[in-house]
Amino acid sequence: MKLTRLRLVGFKSFVDASELVIQPGLTGVVGPNGCGKSNLVEALRWAMGESSHKALRAAEMNDVIFAGSGGRPSRNTAEVVIALDNSNRLAPAPFTEQEELEISRRIERDKGSTYRVNGREVRARDVQLLFADASTGARSPALVRQGQIGEIINARPEARRRVLEEAAGIAGLHARRHESELKLRAAEQNLDRVEDVLGRMQ
Ligand code: ATP
Repeated sequence: MKLTRLRLVGFKSFVDASELVIQPGLTGVVGPNGCGKSNLVEALRWAMGESSHKALRAAEMNDVIFAGSGGRPSRNTAEVVIALDNSNRLAPAPFTEQEELEISRRIERDKGSTYRVNGREVRARDVQLLFADASTGARSPALVRQGQIGEIINARPEARRRVLEEAAGIAGLHARRHESELKLRAAEQNLDRVEDVLGRMQ
């Protein structure tokens, strides 16, 4: 899968609808201090399912919405759309057969976020797993923040192993195993209850 477009409206300093077309090869973003370069990377992380406002330099998640500046009033919604070229069919099921994926996250002030893939509403978890399976995502080493290289070099072996697992695209398996273990535990508790009831009936 390849990132082909990024569309933002109302996200941080990007009050007007802005679209970036990402061509094959290396893309550089240049501009003066404070023009919004980091906001662009944060928009990517946010649409990939980042759940920590601190990781987005925001005091709360509502702060990713344009707060007003230069005489322009604040807004009540923000939306980021990521377009992915899936012509190599590497997207995980149920999205494998889609030629292009449009993943969107929209936030309404005080009402939280909604996620969509090609217009269909999905859970945050679905979007996070989609990117984890593609060896990327809000916390993956595919998006390198300032200071991250030093952190990896100085990290403990378990933390470094997590970086390798993310790069190998198996981080999503851990999340799925955790969900399966929770379901298994709930099923075991139900079985115990059934056995109690049966025992009392005998
Ligand atoms: P540098 O080169 O210094 O790292 P940058 O180009 O990466 O800067 P950013 O950090 O992306 O710039 O953008 C900072 C700008 O975004 C600031 O002017 C800040 O006021 C603005 N900004 C951040 N959040 C919001 C918001 N919710 N509403 C309006 N503007 C915002």
